[in-house]
Amino acid sequence: MKPILVVGSMAFDSVETPFGKVERALGGSATYFSIASSFFSELKMVAVVGEDFPETTLDLLRNRGVDVSGVQRQSGKTFFWQGKYGYDLNAAQTLETQLNVFEKFRPEIPKSHRSTPYVFLANIDPELQIQVLEQVKDPELVACDTMNFWIQGKPSVLTDLFRRVDIVFMNEGEARQYAQEANLVRAARKILTLGPEWLVIKQGEYGSLLFSKEEVFSAPAYPLEKIYDPTGAGDTFAGGFMGYLSSVGQVTSTSLRKAVVFGSVLASFNVEDFSFNRMLSLNAEQILSRYREFERLTHFHAETEFPSIRLLNSTPR
Ligand code: AMP
Repeated sequence: MKPILVVGSMAFDSVETPFGKVERALGGSATYFSIASSFFSELKMVAVVGEDFPETTLDLLRNRGVDVSGVQRQSGKTFFWQGKYGYDLNAAQTLETQLNVFEKFRPEIPKSHRSTPYVFLANIDPELQIQVLEQVKDPELVACDTMNFWIQGKPSVLTDLFRRVDIVFMNEGEARQYAQEANLVRAARKILTLGPEWLVIKQGEYGSLLFSKEEVFSAPAYPLEKIYDPTGAGDTFAGGFMGYLSSVGQVTSTSLRKAVVFGSVLASFNVEDFSFNRMLSLNAEQILSRYREFERLTHFHAETEFPSIRLLNSTPR
């Protein structure tokens, strides 16, 4: 197992979906990521919270084996995000972002965390993500996530960041926006020319795509009847993905494909309730059972010969 260092946001989120709303629920990119990853791996978390952030949430993470000694508590308020989803749950509309303690935050990676083999730069200001990379020592694998807020505000800093990471996670709208390319395959090719070896593009209820320069892998999303809140689905996906990779300790085409499926499994649970509530009642058996359902969902026998298929118009007229 290769432990993971995660740096990202811890937050209060006010979220409205067509199925309900929550005020100041616990969230943040690093929080969702760590909870999902903790099913598979050892986590070291670096983030900042304000005076108003409950110690019980840090205890919850500690109880899941997450090392939160790198989480700074500063005077002021915790990061706050307000978002809204319509019936298209794939696209969040940001109503408000209050950086609060993030405004003056400079990530400081404790000495004991600097040689962690896997690094995940969860969604925060890309300048801070780069500052983290300047402090870590020869990580074996670095992955990052981002969002439209930073693509719009700091695109050239993101380009610098993408040059220095192995895996980039984005959702489809963000990939199109960043690459300025309507076609997703072309957008992916463009992003891969910057330096990352793999790009994961999430398409919400339509699944996800894993691109490298040589191959493309496609996984569906789990067909769910009830989706309450997609907030954190991206971070939870990344948590399942990175957690699985860390548990096998090998980055190969096969392990990456399985990582995509574990990412999809974890994300599919997270959207079943508000905040990360569903993740707290989840157990290993349920994760493995849904992983097997994904296998059944996608498996079919490709014939080597086609005696049962009658192809019409096989000779061009
Ligand atoms: P996602 O997985 O993309 O749905 O991420 C949702 C989480 O991202 C929420 O819990 C928010 O607190 C957090 N978030 C939203 N905007 C930002 C931002 N600009 N920087 C860092 N974290 C953010």
